Amino acid sequence: MSRDAFCPRCGGSLVQRYVEKRERQVCSRCGRIHYKNARPCACALVIRGGRVLLVRRAIEPFYGYWDIPGGFLEAEEHPADCAVREIEEETGLHIRPTALLGIYVDTYGEDEYTLNVHYLAEVVSGEPRPASDAAELAWFAPHELPADLAFHSDYQALEDWQRAMRGEFTPMALTSENPGEYPEPGGAD
Ligand SMILES: [Zn+2]
Repeated sequence: MSRDAFCPRCGGSLVQRYVEKRERQVCSRCGRIHYKNARPCACALVIRGGRVLLVRRAIEPFYGYWDIPGGFLEAEEHPADCAVREIEEETGLHIRPTALLGIYVDTYGEDEYTLNVHYLAEVVSGEPRPASDAAELAWFAPHELPADLAFHSDYQALEDWQRAMRGEFTPMALTSENPGEYPEPGGAD
């Protein structure tokens, strides 16, 4: 379990209490509520010739399963930049996000939740080669997707991609450039 046993602010022990309509961890000493949030992730469905790029995972959880490439955001990172960075690390391809496909909440491991921002993307440059968390790469047509996908959000996003290919909805255009600069966080929680 990844739940903290002690308050990171004062070191007091954490207890379960019913606060703001659900069970939460609360510090028994300073009273701080330890909110549990989903970890933000960005992924890209890289499309080339009507096929989508998937990676075979080289790490747990779901070692050996097929997955949409992506990963966890750094603190100050825009999801679109994260997708570009992660796909470059895992596949060697430099990509350009072209549209927002969808946003999916998922679980990760035993006790974590993820908030997954999925882009559609195209290849700008590079030769595909698996690296980092990926053991193998392959391009799949919509009708030949693998059955052994790692995460529920993989199924959801690939289903939405198929729906978009059939014209059932239009992925959202990316309307603004990532500013690339962020203020330093303040002192508040
Ligand atoms: Zn405390």
